[in-house]
Amino acid sequence: MDYKKHIKIVQDWPKKGIKFKDITPLMDNGKVFKSAIDDIVAYAKEKKADVIVGPEARGFIIGCPVSYALEVGFVPVRKEGKLPREVIKVSYGLEYGENVLTIHKDAIKPGQRVLITDDLLATGGTIEATIKLVEELGGIVVGCAFLIELAYLNGMDKLKDYDVMALMQYK
Ligand code: IMP
Repeated sequence: MDYKKHIKIVQDWPKKGIKFKDITPLMDNGKVFKSAIDDIVAYAKEKKADVIVGPEARGFIIGCPVSYALEVGFVPVRKEGKLPREVIKVSYGLEYGENVLTIHKDAIKPGQRVLITDDLLATGGTIEATIKLVEELGGIVVGCAFLIELAYLNGMDKLKDYDVMALMQYK
Protein backbone atom coordinates (compact mmCIF):
# COMPACT_ATOMS: atom_id res chain seq x y z
CA MET A 1 0.00 0.00 0.00
CA ASP A 2 1.18 3.54 -0.75
CA TYR A 3 1.07 4.88 2.80
CA LYS A 4 2.88 8.14 1.99
CA LYS A 5 -0.21 9.40 0.17
CA HIS A 6 -1.88 9.55 3.58
CA ILE A 7 0.82 11.57 5.38
CA LYS A 8 0.51 15.35 5.32
CA ILE A 9 3.71 17.35 5.50
CA VAL A 10 3.29 20.53 7.49
CA GLN A 11 5.95 23.15 6.79
CA ASP A 12 7.47 25.10 9.68
CA TRP A 13 5.61 23.28 12.45
CA PRO A 14 6.10 23.20 15.44
CA LYS A 15 8.85 25.65 14.52
CA LYS A 16 10.49 27.20 11.49
CA GLY A 17 12.55 24.82 9.39
CA ILE A 18 10.72 21.64 10.53
CA LYS A 19 8.71 19.64 8.00
CA PHE A 20 6.35 17.87 10.38
CA LYS A 21 4.93 14.55 9.22
CA ASP A 22 1.28 14.49 10.23
CA ILE A 23 0.02 10.89 10.55
CA THR A 24 -3.58 11.81 11.39
CA PRO A 25 -4.86 11.51 7.77
CA LEU A 26 -3.53 7.92 7.74
CA MET A 27 -5.24 7.22 11.05
CA ASP A 28 -8.59 8.67 10.10
CA ASN A 29 -8.82 6.39 7.06
CA GLY A 30 -9.96 3.12 8.66
CA LYS A 31 -8.80 0.81 5.84
CA VAL A 32 -5.36 2.40 5.57
CA PHE A 33 -4.85 2.52 9.35
CA LYS A 34 -5.86 -1.15 9.63
CA SER A 35 -3.48 -2.13 6.84
CA ALA A 36 -0.58 -0.30 8.54
CA ILE A 37 -1.36 -1.97 11.87
CA ASP A 38 -1.70 -5.37 10.15
CA ASP A 39 1.79 -4.94 8.65
CA ILE A 40 3.22 -4.27 12.11
CA VAL A 41 1.24 -7.19 13.58
CA ALA A 42 2.82 -9.48 10.95
CA TYR A 43 6.27 -8.19 11.93
CA ALA A 44 5.54 -8.66 15.64
CA LYS A 45 4.41 -12.24 14.96
CA GLU A 46 7.56 -12.98 12.98
CA LYS A 47 9.64 -11.66 15.89
CA LYS A 48 7.55 -13.71 18.37
CA ALA A 49 6.95 -10.66 20.53
CA ASP A 50 5.11 -11.41 23.73
CA VAL A 51 4.63 -7.85 24.93
CA ILE A 52 4.38 -4.45 23.20
CA VAL A 53 5.94 -1.32 24.70
CA GLY A 54 5.22 2.20 23.41
CA PRO A 55 6.31 5.68 24.53
CA GLU A 56 3.66 8.34 25.04
CA ALA A 57 1.73 9.49 23.24
CA ARG A 58 1.82 8.29 19.66
CA GLY A 59 3.57 5.03 20.58
CA PHE A 60 0.24 4.14 22.23
CA ILE A 61 -1.70 4.74 19.00
CA ILE A 62 0.42 2.19 17.15
CA GLY A 63 1.18 -0.24 19.97
CA CYS A 64 -2.29 -0.74 21.46
CA PRO A 65 -4.01 -2.12 18.34
CA VAL A 66 -1.01 -4.41 17.74
CA SER A 67 -1.26 -5.70 21.30
CA TYR A 68 -5.03 -6.22 20.90
CA ALA A 69 -4.59 -8.16 17.66
CA LEU A 70 -1.96 -10.46 19.14
CA GLU A 71 -3.62 -10.82 22.55
CA VAL A 72 -0.39 -9.77 24.26
CA GLY A 73 0.03 -7.02 26.83
CA PHE A 74 0.75 -3.35 26.18
CA VAL A 75 3.12 -1.48 28.51
CA PRO A 76 3.14 2.33 28.45
CA VAL A 77 6.33 4.35 28.78
CA ARG A 78 5.40 7.76 30.13
CA LYS A 79 6.81 11.12 31.09
CA GLU A 80 7.83 11.58 34.70
CA GLY A 81 5.00 11.90 37.21
CA LYS A 82 2.35 10.12 35.15
CA LEU A 83 2.62 6.50 36.28
CA PRO A 84 1.10 5.83 39.72
CA ARG A 85 3.34 3.08 41.10
CA GLU A 86 7.05 2.46 41.52
CA VAL A 87 8.97 3.30 38.34
CA ILE A 88 12.45 3.26 36.91
CA LYS A 89 13.46 6.25 34.83
CA VAL A 90 15.88 7.39 32.18
CA SER A 91 16.69 10.86 30.94
CA TYR A 92 17.86 11.81 27.49
CA GLY A 93 18.87 15.00 25.76
CA LEU A 94 16.58 16.98 23.51
CA GLU A 95 17.63 19.84 21.25
CA TYR A 96 16.87 22.16 24.18
CA GLY A 97 16.90 20.62 27.65
CA GLU A 98 16.12 17.05 28.53
CA ASN A 99 13.25 14.63 28.83
CA VAL A 100 12.61 11.93 31.42
CA LEU A 101 10.76 8.71 30.58
CA THR A 102 9.52 6.16 33.10
CA ILE A 103 8.12 2.63 33.17
CA HIS A 104 6.52 0.66 36.01
CA LYS A 105 9.18 -1.42 37.71
CA ASP A 106 7.15 -4.62 37.46
CA ALA A 107 5.85 -4.06 33.91
CA ILE A 108 8.30 -6.37 32.09
CA LYS A 109 9.31 -9.84 33.26
CA PRO A 110 12.96 -10.84 32.69
CA GLY A 111 13.28 -12.69 29.38
CA GLN A 112 10.08 -11.30 27.86
CA ARG A 113 10.31 -10.65 24.13
CA VAL A 114 9.49 -6.99 23.62
CA LEU A 115 8.41 -5.15 20.48
CA ILE A 116 8.73 -1.36 20.79
CA THR A 117 6.40 0.81 18.72
CA ASP A 118 6.21 4.49 17.91
CA ASP A 119 4.77 6.55 15.09
CA LEU A 120 8.05 8.00 13.91
CA LEU A 121 11.80 7.56 14.27
CA ALA A 122 13.58 10.92 14.14
CA THR A 123 16.91 11.25 16.02
CA GLY A 124 16.24 7.98 17.86
CA GLY A 125 16.51 9.52 21.35
CA THR A 126 13.02 8.45 22.42
CA ILE A 127 13.48 4.86 21.30
CA GLU A 128 16.99 4.58 22.71
CA ALA A 129 15.63 5.70 26.10
CA THR A 130 12.72 3.25 25.83
CA ILE A 131 15.12 0.40 25.01
CA LYS A 132 17.20 1.27 28.10
CA LEU A 133 14.13 1.01 30.34
CA VAL A 134 13.07 -2.33 28.85
CA GLU A 135 16.56 -3.81 29.13
CA GLU A 136 17.01 -2.59 32.69
CA LEU A 137 13.96 -4.67 33.59
CA GLY A 138 15.43 -7.72 31.81
CA GLY A 139 13.31 -7.57 28.65
CA ILE A 140 14.73 -8.64 25.28
CA VAL A 141 14.04 -6.11 22.53
CA VAL A 142 13.20 -8.28 19.52
CA GLY A 143 12.21 -5.39 17.26
CA CYS A 144 11.25 -1.74 16.88
CA ALA A 145 8.41 -0.79 14.53
CA PHE A 146 7.48 2.65 13.19
CA LEU A 147 5.17 4.08 10.61
CA ILE A 148 7.88 6.52 9.51
CA GLU A 149 11.65 6.78 9.57
CA LEU A 150 13.21 10.19 8.93
CA ALA A 151 16.40 8.76 7.43
CA TYR A 152 18.09 12.19 7.25
CA LEU A 153 18.16 12.41 11.07
CA ASN A 154 20.14 9.15 11.34
CA GLY A 155 18.11 7.62 14.16
CA MET A 156 19.08 4.18 12.83
CA ASP A 157 22.66 4.82 14.01
CA LYS A 158 21.43 4.51 17.59
CA LEU A 159 19.59 1.27 16.77
CA LYS A 160 22.40 -0.62 15.01
CA ASP A 161 22.17 -3.55 17.40
CA TYR A 162 18.41 -3.97 16.94
CA ASP A 163 15.98 -5.16 14.32
CA VAL A 164 14.00 -2.18 13.01
CA MET A 165 11.13 -1.82 10.55
CA ALA A 166 9.40 1.29 9.23
CA LEU A 167 6.55 1.40 6.74
CA MET A 168 7.79 4.64 5.17
CA GLN A 169 11.13 6.37 4.81
CA TYR A 170 11.77 10.04 4.11
CA LYS A 171 15.27 10.84 2.84
P1 IMP B 1 13.26 11.20 18.30
O1 IMP B 1 13.36 10.93 19.74
O2 IMP B 1 14.11 12.35 17.86
O3 IMP B 1 13.49 9.96 17.44
O4 IMP B 1 11.79 11.73 18.01
C1 IMP B 1 10.75 10.84 17.88
C2 IMP B 1 9.54 11.34 18.60
O5 IMP B 1 9.21 12.66 18.20
C3 IMP B 1 8.38 10.44 18.28
O6 IMP B 1 7.78 10.05 19.50
C4 IMP B 1 7.46 11.26 17.43
O7 IMP B 1 6.12 11.15 17.86
C5 IMP B 1 7.94 12.70 17.56
N1 IMP B 1 8.16 13.36 16.24
C6 IMP B 1 9.28 13.94 15.80
N2 IMP B 1 9.13 14.45 14.57
C7 IMP B 1 7.87 14.16 14.20
C8 IMP B 1 7.10 14.38 13.00
O8 IMP B 1 7.55 14.97 11.97
N3 IMP B 1 5.83 13.90 13.02
C9 IMP B 1 5.31 13.24 14.07
N4 IMP B 1 6.00 13.03 15.19
C10 IMP B 1 7.26 13.48 15.27
